[in-house]
Amino acid sequence: MHQSINLSMGSECVTADFPKEETLSDTDALYLRQAIRHSHTARERGNRPFGALIVSKSGETLVEFYNQTKEALDCTAHAETGAIRIASLAHSRAVLMESTLYASGEPCVMCSGAIFLSGIRRVVYALDAVRMRQMRGLKEEYRDLAWSIKEIYQASPHPIECIGPALIDEASLAHQGFWQP
Ligand SMILES: [Zn+2]
Repeated sequence: MHQSINLSMGSECVTADFPKEETLSDTDALYLRQAIRHSHTARERGNRPFGALIVSKSGETLVEFYNQTKEALDCTAHAETGAIRIASLAHSRAVLMESTLYASGEPCVMCSGAIFLSGIRRVVYALDAVRMRQMRGLKEEYRDLAWSIKEIYQASPHPIECIGPALIDEASLAHQGFWQP
């Protein structure tokens, strides 16, 4: 289900198909809100506003991380890749295969690849890439590879469940006024 809206951005007109917001279980909402909290931490520390955490099948938070691209001067230090690097050091692939990654924004192409490599098979995210693209505008350095995580995982040899977008209004707050044209 998509909702089509014409957006006027400067001299260009962008047509966006916004994915429909999903309703989460109380448990998923709890953890996703924690990922959103980390998006604020990231921004407060001068980074792009994204947070992530990985939670085991039993409900244990294995790792929490926020975007550190500015702090670490590392363009690959996204919240999800950071969380996966730490989780992979401390936990077996078997544990990760039963874990869920929560992200305040839909994982990008790089992070979708990292999630796949980690063995994680469940992803819950708040803001979808289409809405984030609208927020970022047309500035070159803000633009991304425009594939959705759901499209990317169609190429996966095993199913990876993706739930999102969800908690859109809550997750949007960390982005307000951040992406300057
Ligand atoms: Zn990423």
